[in-house]
Amino acid sequence: MNYQEILDEIGHEFKAVQFEGKVASYIPELANVSPDKFGMHICCLKGGNYSLGNARESFSIQSISKVLSLTLAHLYEGDKIWKRVDVEPSGDPFNSLVQLEFENGIPRNPLINAGALVISDILVSHLSNPKQDYLDFVRKLAGDATVDFNLKVAASEKEWGFRNSALINLMKSFGNIQNDVEEVLDFYFHKCSIEMSCATLARTFLLFANHGQLLGRGEAVIPKSQTKRINAIMQTCGFYDEAGEFSFRVGLPGKSGVGGGIVAVHPGAYSVAVWSPKLNPKGNSSQGMAALEALTTKSGLSIF
Ligand code: GLN
Repeated sequence: MNYQEILDEIGHEFKAVQFEGKVASYIPELANVSPDKFGMHICCLKGGNYSLGNARESFSIQSISKVLSLTLAHLYEGDKIWKRVDVEPSGDPFNSLVQLEFENGIPRNPLINAGALVISDILVSHLSNPKQDYLDFVRKLAGDATVDFNLKVAASEKEWGFRNSALINLMKSFGNIQNDVEEVLDFYFHKCSIEMSCATLARTFLLFANHGQLLGRGEAVIPKSQTKRINAIMQTCGFYDEAGEFSFRVGLPGKSGVGGGIVAVHPGAYSVAVWSPKLNPKGNSSQGMAALEALTTKSGLSIF
């Protein structure tokens, strides 16, 4: 498969297309990003790396970090975490409160905000220095010690994080948050603010294409069966109320973030990251989804 040729073709075809959408502004600091950025990067298990456009420029990974925090929390608590968060698609927006009241403070899945807040609570319980320990874990997966939080983005989200405050307080009232809500929110905002480029992001997620092993580093981070489950959760829940649409158009497990990034994996073959900050009404990158759809269409490969 000539992935570079496919990426170049996508770059060429997309030049003529004006993608709809708006850069996220409910976190004011994210609104400062240029809407015209577009980058894409593929990391193959066989060793090839292929790039397009702004693939080496860093952006805020936001909700993409929810997959990494789930991975770490499962390493500490194992299947106990499924008592506090479910694995069903929500069919609702990422920051919705409605199901939580009916479902007694148990979030539908770990990839919506409510679920990621419970996962953050679990990590705050287990990590001695939560922000630094989490960052070290992400740096290890990325194989890059320069990966860092963007403190301005974290502070900006904290200032305007009323909805996440509402979610965590509601769950606390049901007994599903064990730590101080301010401490958990602070951890959550920092973990969302992590910056990576498409190239770093694709490399970080390569273990989900590689049965849980760090490529070329001979180390299993998570067992094969757990990798399969995390991929299943990405497939069914990674795009909130657009998870069906992403499966239908792209056909790979993936995860989006309001920074405009999307990462997807083809188990046994590659990981791919794309970045374009303009979001559709469901909070997913419009051009990012179109680019991944073009990739699986042109390559003729998806998991289905
Ligand atoms: N930090 C963002 C929030 O909590 C993440 C949302 C997202 O990327 N979908 O609202």
